[in-house]
Amino acid sequence: MAVVKTKCRLDENTRALGGIFQEHGHRLYLVGGAVRDYLMGIDNDDWDFATDARPDEVMSMFPHHVIPTGLQHGTVTVRFRRQSYEVTTFRSEGAYSDSRHPDSVTFVRSLESDLERRDFTINAFAADALDGTILDYHDGRGDLRRRLVRAIGDPQERFGEDALRMLRACRFAARLDFDIERDTFEAIRRNSSSIVKVSAERIREELYKTLMSDNAVKGIELMRTSGLLDHILPELVACVGVEQGGLHSMDVYHHCLATLRCACTHRYPPMVRLAALLHDIGKPGCRKEHDGGYTFYGHDKEGARMVDALMRRLKASNDERELVTRLVREHMFNYTSQWSDGALRRFVARVSDALEPLIQLRIADALAISPDASLDSLWEMERRIEEIRKRNDALGIRDLAVDGHDLMALGIPAGPRLGRTLSALLDAVMDDPSLNRRETLLEMAGRLQA
Ligand code: ATP
Ligand code: MG
Repeated sequence: MAVVKTKCRLDENTRALGGIFQEHGHRLYLVGGAVRDYLMGIDNDDWDFATDARPDEVMSMFPHHVIPTGLQHGTVTVRFRRQSYEVTTFRSEGAYSDSRHPDSVTFVRSLESDLERRDFTINAFAADALDGTILDYHDGRGDLRRRLVRAIGDPQERFGEDALRMLRACRFAARLDFDIERDTFEAIRRNSSSIVKVSAERIREELYKTLMSDNAVKGIELMRTSGLLDHILPELVACVGVEQGGLHSMDVYHHCLATLRCACTHRYPPMVRLAALLHDIGKPGCRKEHDGGYTFYGHDKEGARMVDALMRRLKASNDERELVTRLVREHMFNYTSQWSDGALRRFVARVSDALEPLIQLRIADALAISPDASLDSLWEMERRIEEIRKRNDALGIRDLAVDGHDLMALGIPAGPRLGRTLSALLDAVMDDPSLNRRETLLEMAGRLQA
């Protein structure tokens, strides 16, 4: 057993909690990512604890302050001095017959067995809650120094137990800017197709977490070179080698990666990063040769259709699916100073909530094509939209100075004609906001019926 020289700095409350476990003849350890990140000098506020005490023993130590959050996995939440501590009983896992769930979970008394079932050496540190002494049974410290993600034990076996670990390896390599150790990577390459056995939800969460690391591009590239991406995002793999010509020096795949890189540099939110990665996946199916170059007409719509299906496959929420689909569908807007205010208002009305992320996507897209691309016209567009917003110009039927009841009072029956009349009024007001007055609109509505 290796005791790491550095001790983990633990706050007073955590040490006091460790003391209570000790008084009851048990031990409490901080485990997992928090110790790894501590050793690397990275902040991590996701703290997991492990103990040799069984859940019922923990519950009897804190009779009124334990919430049984995940009893079947041995996890309880202890409320102590106004804080919550997730405490999991040491476990070892039985055989995995389906590459995703252990057939059984057994509570054990030894820390060593608990650390053995963990995925990577850098995730298998434990810090004693009493005094912060860090224990390292798998040379995690050496791998931190070598900057390697290495499976504990036989990687082939470990990925056979839980195929998600292959994606986790790529995620940690991206997040920490590490490499994946050779045998571990080789085992991912050999087992990549078994990722399909993992639930869509778990895959999606790993993908999102990978996208949120500063070095997301590295994670995606590791997924591609190991073969995982073929099974998770085959649409993206189909972009590899699809040359574009024109302003583009890169093939479609590498342009998508470059767009993701810009989105990460700007710290854009997760769905913008996903849209950046996927925005051109319609291109391979839309490429036509033309005058010695290529065109990609309709790739925005085709891409949106593909993204909608892809997000359903990943079981993303409706909000996420709709946003990413809309971003991909609208990413080709071609703003110029010549756009009338009416055209701009229609655009704002159409993209509605997606406006800010859409502009972020375009910034990333433009900078990916050329790092010194001029963004002046995007800034100008933002400025003009800001003015439209400040003036409260009507952008939807709700904003009109009349409503359906007013029109019915004019004798227009409820139904399609009423809808058409309101749309016609909105159309006029979009071009000329000064028309948005009750009298004017009622008069126009009357004329429209004549
Ligand atoms: P993060 O900082 O991103 O939360 P983490 O290392 O804490 O990183 P978690 O997903 O929160 O990662 O998992 C906590 C710990 O549980 C890991 O450090 C690892 O020891 C263990 N673990 C999690 N998932 C697995 C898995 N699929 N197989 C084996 N061990 C796992
Ligand atoms: Mg964690």
